[in-house]
Amino acid sequence: MNDSKNQAGDKNLDLEKIRALERAARRLDPSPEERLSDADKVVAHAARHMERAKTAPAYIRGEGTARGLLDTPLSEDGVGLDRALGLLHDFVDTEGLSTTSGRFGGYIPGGGLFHAALGDFLAAITNKYAGVFFASPGAVRMENQLVRWMADLVGFPAEASGYLAAGGSGANLTAVVTARDAMRIEGTTVPRAVLYATEHTHHCVDKALHIAGLSRVTVRRVAVDEGHRMRPDALRAAILSDREQRLVPWMVIASAGTTNTGSVDPLDAIGDIAHAESLWYHVDAAYGGFFLLTEYGRKRLRGIEMAHSVVMDPHKTLFLPYGTGALLVRDGRKLHASHTSGADYMQDTVQGARPDSVDSDPFSSVSPAEMSPELTKHFRGLRMWLPLQVLGVAPFRAALDEKLLLARHFREAMVERGVFEVGPEPDLSVVTFRLPGSDERNQRLVADLHADGRIFLSSTVLEGRFTLRMAAVCHRTHEADVNTMLDVLHECAARVA
Ligand SMILES: *Cc1c(COP(=O)(O)O)cnc(C)c1O
Repeated sequence: MNDSKNQAGDKNLDLEKIRALERAARRLDPSPEERLSDADKVVAHAARHMERAKTAPAYIRGEGTARGLLDTPLSEDGVGLDRALGLLHDFVDTEGLSTTSGRFGGYIPGGGLFHAALGDFLAAITNKYAGVFFASPGAVRMENQLVRWMADLVGFPAEASGYLAAGGSGANLTAVVTARDAMRIEGTTVPRAVLYATEHTHHCVDKALHIAGLSRVTVRRVAVDEGHRMRPDALRAAILSDREQRLVPWMVIASAGTTNTGSVDPLDAIGDIAHAESLWYHVDAAYGGFFLLTEYGRKRLRGIEMAHSVVMDPHKTLFLPYGTGALLVRDGRKLHASHTSGADYMQDTVQGARPDSVDSDPFSSVSPAEMSPELTKHFRGLRMWLPLQVLGVAPFRAALDEKLLLARHFREAMVERGVFEVGPEPDLSVVTFRLPGSDERNQRLVADLHADGRIFLSSTVLEGRFTLRMAAVCHRTHEADVNTMLDVLHECAARVA
């Protein structure tokens, strides 16, 4: 019949078309020779970047637009790797903050470890599905092993669990959601609920409350001491007064290293109050958490083990590239309860997706998809596991002890030179200081520093006054870099009247 003939004809046509498309699509999968050649070019580009970072300014303002990127819009045939790397060099690598520089001491620096980059490369190549145990038992066990390692650092019990997040903001959001559900903050309770924090609590907590549907919760800013730490007596008084007014004290957030000053709230005293008053105790240790690897840090952060939940950022004080945070929850079942759900198309994955008890970690095979808002996600465990396995923990511990001492060295040298008013002894690795005189004078100093660019430091406002800060967090920040920071600071200070 005509019909079947047409069908056969169409079929030939389709096959020809399929083969032509295959030839075009195969460019997505380079040959072994092309792969090696392209990989060599990328490694060489990375090596040049790392060499340059040793001496390049920590901040390059340039044209400040990167608009040149727009001159090369995406095209049908592509520009090839050489040209793409050229664009990257011209418009991305060499402008703005050089966060990989040892002389970058602004905000909370993050250096990005070389072995973490290699881990990222392998994670992308193998593209293991780290969301579900069934899909990659190895990737999931690895991530849970890292979670357990951090839980042990905190001093959490066996039933603790958590997940590797994209960053501290997302991890804090997940903590707020878990606390909300565990404490049943819902319906008419919401407008009466009170959360305790300080003026130095990271602003991502406000964002988290908003996203979690808790905009109407009262955030009580508890008074701080002269070192910017939460005052336990003020916390207790606020809770009692709120209870008298028939409000519902619900959660207290302590900071183990504020972003502003690196101050550590008195975690043990706050923990005692939180437990006595039956509040959810959250410790935001995004910046300070990994100082638990040091003896000093363990003393400074004593009491963190009393928390119900803890956030730590491996992309800060574990020196990983951006995109790795962590949430740890003392009772892993509460995190699970807030983040588990199902769908028919996921039915094959259910086996192994539940907490098991085959070993000492009851959550070692739990699926991250059941413990977090994510499903398909980056296999971010590999970028953390590889450097820790290859290099061991010792160099991390040494680097963190070094940063603690460098901050003290910086502060002492500032005091000695007598030009700046210097803030209190740092709790961790952030030092605050300002030039005597007006805010405006200090603003001019920051503008001058940024125009100079050799070092990068950021500013904040403390007790209503414009203040500069130096954060020693980048793993490449060593004695010589801190001395350069001191020299450039004093050079610029001499220029601003
Ligand atoms: C950096 C930081 C955050 C936010 O984490 P991101 O990883 O930047 O999202 C939250 N809290 C503290 C104390 C921080 O230092």
